[in-house]
Amino acid sequence: MEHHLWPARGVAEHAYCPRLFYYMAVEGIFAPNADTEHGAGVHSRVDRPSARPTASPGDRPAANSGHKRTVKPEDSEADVDRPQVIRSLALSSERLGVTAKLDLAEVNGNTAIPVEYRKGHPDRRGKAAEAIDEMLAPPVTPPAEPWPTDRVQVGLQVLLLEEEGYSVPRAIVYYAAERHRLELRVDDELRQCALAELQNARRTAGGARPAPLHNDPKCPRCSLQPICLPDEVNALCPDEHGPTGEQAISQRKLWPSRDDGIHIVLQREGVRVGVRGKSVRVTDKDGKLVRDFPLSSMESLALVGAVQVSTQALQVFADKEIPVAFLTSAGRLTAMMDPLGPVSAAVRTAQVRGLDDPTRVIELARAVTVAKIANQRTLLMRNHANLPARVALDLQAAHAAAEQAITLDELRGHEGNAAAIYFKHFSGMFKENARAVATRFDENGRQRRPPPDAINAVLSFGYSMLTNECTAACRLANLEPVIGALHATRPGRPAMSLDLMEPFRPLIADSVAISAFNRGELTEGHFLDTAAGCALTDAGRKAFFSAYGRRMDTEVTHPVFGYRLSYRRMLMLHARLIAAWLLGEVPDLAFLTTR
Ligand code: SF4
Repeated sequence: MEHHLWPARGVAEHAYCPRLFYYMAVEGIFAPNADTEHGAGVHSRVDRPSARPTASPGDRPAANSGHKRTVKPEDSEADVDRPQVIRSLALSSERLGVTAKLDLAEVNGNTAIPVEYRKGHPDRRGKAAEAIDEMLAPPVTPPAEPWPTDRVQVGLQVLLLEEEGYSVPRAIVYYAAERHRLELRVDDELRQCALAELQNARRTAGGARPAPLHNDPKCPRCSLQPICLPDEVNALCPDEHGPTGEQAISQRKLWPSRDDGIHIVLQREGVRVGVRGKSVRVTDKDGKLVRDFPLSSMESLALVGAVQVSTQALQVFADKEIPVAFLTSAGRLTAMMDPLGPVSAAVRTAQVRGLDDPTRVIELARAVTVAKIANQRTLLMRNHANLPARVALDLQAAHAAAEQAITLDELRGHEGNAAAIYFKHFSGMFKENARAVATRFDENGRQRRPPPDAINAVLSFGYSMLTNECTAACRLANLEPVIGALHATRPGRPAMSLDLMEPFRPLIADSVAISAFNRGELTEGHFLDTAAGCALTDAGRKAFFSAYGRRMDTEVTHPVFGYRLSYRRMLMLHARLIAAWLLGEVPDLAFLTTR
């Protein structure tokens, strides 16, 4: 940490929010949103280094050694009396421990003026000047001031330029939204403000991840909000901020209910996936285009059976951290592409340490099990045509017993007991049109490998797809998918993904099976009895994916946070809450249950 060079932009983020700084500078987590993309657009011109490097006034040796500098003048043939404009000027100082890339610098002899570009408006929260004559004076807007983050960033740039031997009389921040060129006076106050923030950032980096801001107006605009979960973490930490739950989070809805990206599932034998420019192309065996999708909208890719994918496409997906799942035509998840993201190992380290402790293991295992039993009971009570009263009571008893379990064996016993009751009455949720498949399921009971009938085949397929989604959610939350609590770690078993999946089995996979048969989207004609068990035909898989996709996009209300999220986002939310619990940010775990 001692010799680390902190990027000036990162230190400025510390002034915005120490937790944001920690995520980005220490853990390497970055999530673009509309604001950051727009900001990148504003920077796109100045981020292109100037064309031709030449000797420049800054080539003089600086007062301190150990500096690195890349000086690329905008126009080296310009009039020598006019300032040179240098884009993307990279500076660093070992002494200060700071590095920066200046959007632009206007250099004239020994004098340099840094120019920083911002997409938005300047800070106009100050008091407007009093109008002398109300009748004559136009409305007066508050004066333009630099935001605290801009002062820090520009202050560090000034210090770096001064280290290079330049005199820096002033600095400019250009606010694109108002086309306002705001001049900052360079004085000791500006320098001290930047150095103090640098010290604070160093201190923050050496400790644990800071707590989220509380009810702060910055959070709704922050690109890391879905990862940071400020309101959710605060709501679950009563000691920190007084009231808990719904009161504490003020019902702010910060997270879009669903993603608008595309989740692609390809299952047609022999098709090939490639990338050309900004589109993902699916071609047939003869190279004829079957479908194409914009790469920028792609969220995930699942390849079922003999679908080919080019190495170049895999590299592009890995670069963009798009998860790719490989499934057999029977729906068994065989592999996932695991891009080497730039993130730190903080969550994984906490997971390995935390799940070495039997108390923490039982806590997580209990939380997922009781939520699953509650959801099984609700599903039966909602959909069973004639559920004996005894069944709901027995499931309630299993739920209560699971809540009290103190060993994993005991907990697994209650979970198995609840599953036996649930699947014994499962066929009662199918309507008359699906009576034949329901009767076969009744005769067989729940059987995994090989699935002996259509309902078992669909349940197995649904659980495989859900395992894939949960593994992707674990990866997004930086959890290690193979280390779990309720599910023991075994070679090839994504134990944490399976743990996360438990409460969602009835809500997603079981619900898809019930509704697809009841609506007639899946019928007996969509299945083949093979030596390897009952399997979906191509048309059956297509019908399944359509029902499954709809279910994942269905929005539900979170019982604690009170906002609505799609099931896909719920998986991500709960994966991130597990990570927050492992890091000690939230004291308890509770998973989604529906009424
Ligand atoms: S969401 Fe709020 S608390 Fe979290 S990193 Fe962003 S600004 Fe900080």
